[in-house]
Amino acid sequence: MTAAIIDGKAFAATLRAKVGELAAAFEAKAGRKAGLAVVLVGEDPASQVYVRSKGKQTVEAGMASFEHRLPAETAEAELLALVEQLNTDPAVDGILVQLPLPKHMDEQKVISTINPDKDVDGFHVISAGRLAVGQQGFVPCTPLGCLMLLKDRLRSLSGLDAVVIGRSNIVGKPMAQLLLAESCTVTIAHSRTQNLPEVVRRADIVVAAVGRPEMVKADWIKPGACVIDVGINRVPAAEEGKTRLVGDVDYAGAMAVAGAVTPVPGGVGPMTIAVLLRNALVAAYRNAGLALAA
Ligand code: NDP
Repeated sequence: MTAAIIDGKAFAATLRAKVGELAAAFEAKAGRKAGLAVVLVGEDPASQVYVRSKGKQTVEAGMASFEHRLPAETAEAELLALVEQLNTDPAVDGILVQLPLPKHMDEQKVISTINPDKDVDGFHVISAGRLAVGQQGFVPCTPLGCLMLLKDRLRSLSGLDAVVIGRSNIVGKPMAQLLLAESCTVTIAHSRTQNLPEVVRRADIVVAAVGRPEMVKADWIKPGACVIDVGINRVPAAEEGKTRLVGDVDYAGAMAVAGAVTPVPGGVGPMTIAVLLRNALVAAYRNAGLALAA
């Protein structure tokens, strides 16, 4: 038996198209475009790629993109002042400060300055608290994208055993909260977990968010389980001097055992920006006091 491949790229394209339709409806109702502001401090090459991609996809979805690029040596107070200004700007529905920030800045302080109603990344402590207690708020994009893929594949998640490997604030913890809210029995595993293979073997749903190439082996996986691989790891390719991307799961091995698996690349990765656009649009509807159909 070969597992089904969960096509995150196709799902993300459908989600972006839906966001595009809702963005057009928003513009017709509100008389302005939904707006997403992205702030980049410094010249981190990976962050530059993400920010460019976010801006491009925001515009393609029919929303307004406000890009703010600040030099690496910007004072923290200046960044905080920009965030405050975006908080009160009626054209801006969502604010994203690209992480990591330069070392001299306190990331938590900066994130805490964002108005939680514009916190489309879902990293504010108020957003984390709202998720934990089941109130309406914003959920971090990557775990929300994972949940969408899981629900599309499995429909109801109720009563299933889920193991999340990784407990970061941006992936592991919110993922566990989302699965709990879907009535899964959730285990959060991490670097101190004992006998991880045995823990994973119990799971109907495995979400791997570790950052260790191909760590999860085929014989850790329960036959028929649904495996979501969040990891993005660059490893040397067979061809000298070249690299390739792999996930946290031994993909070929998992394909022989699991019921469904997300590939890397093309699984969770493309979902993140699509969900960001969705979060920004949801923010626009909420901030304008409009009801969001569907
Ligand atoms: P972090 O480094 O913040 O967290 C990694 C987690 O894995 C930690 O909780 C750590 O445990 C745990 N861990 C480390 N080693 C082991 C081990 N041997 N056994 C079990 N658990 C272990 O990473 P992130 O959550 O930010 O990201 C995880 C992965 O997901 C990375 O590869 C990252 O690139 C990718 N990613 C992909 C995104 C996408 O868009 N697809 C978005 C965000 C991340 P402990 O807490 O004990 O240290």
